[in-house]
Amino acid sequence: MPNPPIRRIAFKTLGCRLNQYETDSLEAQFRRAGYRIVDYRDHADAYVVNTCTVTSRSDQKSRNSIHQATRSNNDAVVVLTGCMASNRHSVFDAARPTYVVGNSGKADIFALVDAHLNGETIESASSAKSVFDYEPTDAGVHTRAMIKIQDGCDNFCSFCIIPYVRGRAVSRPPGEICENIRKVLDFGYREVTLTGVNIGRYRHEDADFEDLVESILQIPGQFRLRISSLEPIGFGERLIDMFDQEHLAPHLHLCLQSGSDKMLIKMKRMYSVATYRKMVDRIRRRHPDFNLTTDIMVGFPGETEEDFERSCQLARDIGFSHIHTFKYSPRKGTPAWRMPGQVCAQVKTRRSRLVHEISKSNKQRYYASFIGRNEVMLTEKQVGAKLSGYGQYYIPLLIDRGDLTSNQFVTATITGITDESPPRLIAEIAA
Ligand code: SF4
Repeated sequence: MPNPPIRRIAFKTLGCRLNQYETDSLEAQFRRAGYRIVDYRDHADAYVVNTCTVTSRSDQKSRNSIHQATRSNNDAVVVLTGCMASNRHSVFDAARPTYVVGNSGKADIFALVDAHLNGETIESASSAKSVFDYEPTDAGVHTRAMIKIQDGCDNFCSFCIIPYVRGRAVSRPPGEICENIRKVLDFGYREVTLTGVNIGRYRHEDADFEDLVESILQIPGQFRLRISSLEPIGFGERLIDMFDQEHLAPHLHLCLQSGSDKMLIKMKRMYSVATYRKMVDRIRRRHPDFNLTTDIMVGFPGETEEDFERSCQLARDIGFSHIHTFKYSPRKGTPAWRMPGQVCAQVKTRRSRLVHEISKSNKQRYYASFIGRNEVMLTEKQVGAKLSGYGQYYIPLLIDRGDLTSNQFVTATITGITDESPPRLIAEIAA
């Protein structure tokens, strides 16, 4: 009997790291079941679009991805999942997906697609699984393993649709998280990034976020822990102290959104500019070179030139090495949707360009300050005769390949900076 043809599946992921983590886990599940993962532009039997709905642009990208899938294979099963699928205000056009699976049913997509391709009929993915039912990926798709610790958000910032599409905050038991981390370390990963919607709000029974990080740092093994994105609330000196440990990477993406108190209040953010500055000062007092990156939103309803200038000034003062800037996009169902003082598109574009310029010059200055110093680099991909990777401060580095392999820690001396945009630092093995 001839072997049955290998089924082909393609994934498209939009939006945040959490989506990427969930896609990686789904991919690994299909791969283990004998599916071939192909490029999203290729002909496949099934397409999964893991969407984002943070802006109207993300919605449009998701709709385009459905069109792209049906153009590649009109008979394919197309699954739309993620936040756009969970948003009851989402609008679909002519190219409707075969299944629309909200975030709560995402972990069941394998069962849904596999049954469909076997000619069975399942109405929709059940939500019997939990939002944490994702196995860590073992395929070495990335050098960094992402570990989901939390989902949902209770903050309800006035511009944000996420609490409505991801639901209320839930945290995963610390034992399960540590078990997952041990597993990915056994798979050979050397870096672990914690992921979730609002991870600083982690709380499981008596354990809060700082307790969790402390337990993770006690796991034996040669690895680096990266926290990445955090709201500027819910942590204090204890976490700052933990950055003394060399396997906790001195980098935080500390979401700012605006440098104007008036805007922060309207956005229903839970901190003031003064508390944000104080937190940064505390971190920098202990760790002067700490790498801080952030999000800044431009064009929130009522944002004046003066408010915007305050954001720019704060961004320059703090010297964020990277600013993810996004233009406010009204999301139906959120309090800001109907707020007066909507800012026109041209003004948003101009402000976003200005923030981008600040980010670029901050980055250049911050990266250049590392020249002549040593960094512990984790090698990743081959780039010609070099290997790319990141140092402990989460700065991209390039080093001569020589005898090095990927996924290896190496102490490197920074010797220069590339003239690409964004730049990378040039490194050589430390003497
Ligand atoms: S903290 Fe605010 S911006 Fe972040 S997910 Fe929650 S509601 Fe949205």
